[in-house]
Amino acid sequence: MPQPNVRIAVPGPFYEGFDYAWPHDGLAPRRGMRVRVGFGRRECVGLIVATDVETSIAESRLREVSDALDISPVLAEPLLDFILWAARYYHYPPGDAIYTALPRWLREGRPAEPSNETYWQLTDAGRDMDPDTLARRARRQASLLARLQARGELGAGHFPEGQGDWRGGLQRLTERGLAEPISRPAYALIRGHGTASAPALNADQATAARALSGEQGFQTVLLDGVTGSGKTAVYLAAIEDILARGLQVLVIVPEIGLTPQLVDRFAERLDHPLVVLHSGLSDGERLGAWLAARDGEAGVIIGTRSAVFTPLARPGLIVVDEEHDTSLKQQEGFRYQARDMAVARASRLAIPVALGSATPSLESLDNVRRGRYHHRRLPARATGAAMPAFRLLDIRGRSLRHGLSAALLEQTREHLDQGGQVLLFLNRRGYAPTLLCHECGWVAECQRCDARYTYHQAGRRLHCHHCDSAGGVPIACPACASPDLRAVGVGTERLEEVLSEELPETALVRIDRDSTRRKGEFERRLERARNGDARLLLGTQMLAKGHHLPAVTMVGIIDADQGLFGSDFRAPERLAQLIIQVAGRAGRADRPGEVAIQTHQPEHPLLQQLIQRGYPAFAADALAERQQAGLPPFSALALLRAEAVTEEAPEAFLAEAAELAGAAREVGVHCLGPMPAPMPRRAGRYRAQLLLQSTERQPLQRLLARMTPMLKGLDHARRVRWSLDVDPAEML
Ligand code: ADP
Ligand code: ZN
Ligand code: ZN
Repeated sequence: MPQPNVRIAVPGPFYEGFDYAWPHDGLAPRRGMRVRVGFGRRECVGLIVATDVETSIAESRLREVSDALDISPVLAEPLLDFILWAARYYHYPPGDAIYTALPRWLREGRPAEPSNETYWQLTDAGRDMDPDTLARRARRQASLLARLQARGELGAGHFPEGQGDWRGGLQRLTERGLAEPISRPAYALIRGHGTASAPALNADQATAARALSGEQGFQTVLLDGVTGSGKTAVYLAAIEDILARGLQVLVIVPEIGLTPQLVDRFAERLDHPLVVLHSGLSDGERLGAWLAARDGEAGVIIGTRSAVFTPLARPGLIVVDEEHDTSLKQQEGFRYQARDMAVARASRLAIPVALGSATPSLESLDNVRRGRYHHRRLPARATGAAMPAFRLLDIRGRSLRHGLSAALLEQTREHLDQGGQVLLFLNRRGYAPTLLCHECGWVAECQRCDARYTYHQAGRRLHCHHCDSAGGVPIACPACASPDLRAVGVGTERLEEVLSEELPETALVRIDRDSTRRKGEFERRLERARNGDARLLLGTQMLAKGHHLPAVTMVGIIDADQGLFGSDFRAPERLAQLIIQVAGRAGRADRPGEVAIQTHQPEHPLLQQLIQRGYPAFAADALAERQQAGLPPFSALALLRAEAVTEEAPEAFLAEAAELAGAAREVGVHCLGPMPAPMPRRAGRYRAQLLLQSTERQPLQRLLARMTPMLKGLDHARRVRWSLDVDPAEML
């Protein structure tokens, strides 16, 4: 009797599985089980993607599976099929796609069982202790005690990276007899306690929540609500419904959204176990959380984009918050768009999916227009607070003190004098974007990129924000030896300096990647912003997104012009979203907010449209422009990128690829390039790209399906690194 053969997906650049003989008596192979196989000269962990395979390999040459690693599938068939579908959609090797979706320990072949880790829980004394009595002498312990009381227990997985010495704090609480360590299967389960009461939803909210409760099976609801309109309250109401029916909810948030505040809010409202998937998890906890989701122990799973592939025992609803956010797109390796994958997955599962945003992506608005998504608007703030008022500050011909106009400074002073809190936004970190020689015009440039060095005053160094290389600041100009080197332009570091000179009495907090590098610093600074200790907040988009800053009465946007001239066709959309999102921080509580935008382009139609008629009007116009230009969502794009240490290799490779594309003769697919990337050299490598564009998606997909597996066989393939980006979010 011939042996039953199996097809195995292994990691690596392979578009097909590999056939092996199944040797084991007794255990029947099933799709989704992991195996160890000899592959070339090494062994690797692979996954069974097909059984009962009729192989074309001669029996004498067919290798046997070395080991079965599971007695039941780690990936249930529907999820496996979804991942394989996603791999086909993005033309990404299926073995690598599966690896992306599995926790590291499963990729390494460890058993699919949780290991034990240490968690701390309260003792009776700890339950009765008021954290405030600890607060004066031991703030960290007090806050840990409060979190323990809120969450039931704490362990490594409850502390996203950079939250200070929590272990030491818990140790101290243990010494005081307030907490005790226990060992249990590793996963950072948060025991929601459901003590916070739900607000009575307004009519718009109630309609939206009903649409999500799952009665109609699959539907996509675009929850288009201004900042503070109560979108989170809608999710929570729908989630309560779904949980009450014994089902699970998957919540996907942008990176920056995974702040403890969001998780606390969920835990306070829901009396169900939650797991949070974040980058600070240990491998053991990641596996534990994954298993808790798969086996149904977790009611709510909150995570960033990769959570879209989390297994679910009883899926009931998927929520994607801030659906316009660029961090939902994976920018390396398996380049999926988590929002789109969430919709696709919900459709396969026949469950509803909510996409929430105050500034919906043009793609989603277009899907509303085409009748694919339901549009639910929340046009007003839930608390009755007014929307902020916008004002353009025309700075043409005005004197600026390092980017700051007298008018903006004046307005800032007024708000501060009236007890308000002011947020100034500048999306450029460092001291100055350019260091140049006043004598001869020499500019400090990165040796490895087509880019300037940013000058950082702290540590007096030059830093390239593209390749991370750094250098010292020369004492004199390398070209003419003049000592007159000047920092030109303004970044957050310099703005902080100017502001502390102008407003020396005002407590200021700066939030950007440099100021929050130290562990726990981001949380500390955000807390000072939130509790009002700092009156003046200055930051990049780290500060602008998602946080609830109730005391902010004024938002100043220092430089809107940067975004007006981006080379990417999405630059206007991104700028509009950023302005509205930053503005949304203002006037969220009882005081109305004001937004001042400094610009040299006060008549620019984008700015005019946005501040006079709002985001929906802007978006309608922007969509019409996209339609005229034949750009997404009115066409489908794929970008083939290549880079190499030599200048010719990327273009040579892409020229071969363009020939392949042409030979495929897919009607309606246009091939643009090869052309240099917008930044032609980065980190010492030359970069080029080939753009494939098609009005209809199908011909492009057919072309890519045929062409992609052939790319690695091209003459120049071995001289370059290449990647394919389907539905690219950035043209870089
Ligand atoms: P969003 O997620 O849209 O920014 P939130 O859900 O955070 O909005 O709501 C903003 C504020 O309004 C929160 O303080 C929330 O508690 C409050 N809120 C939400 N819905 C209601 C409601 N129906 N009635 C009163 N307050 C509400
Ligand atoms: Zn010089
Ligand atoms: Zn560089």
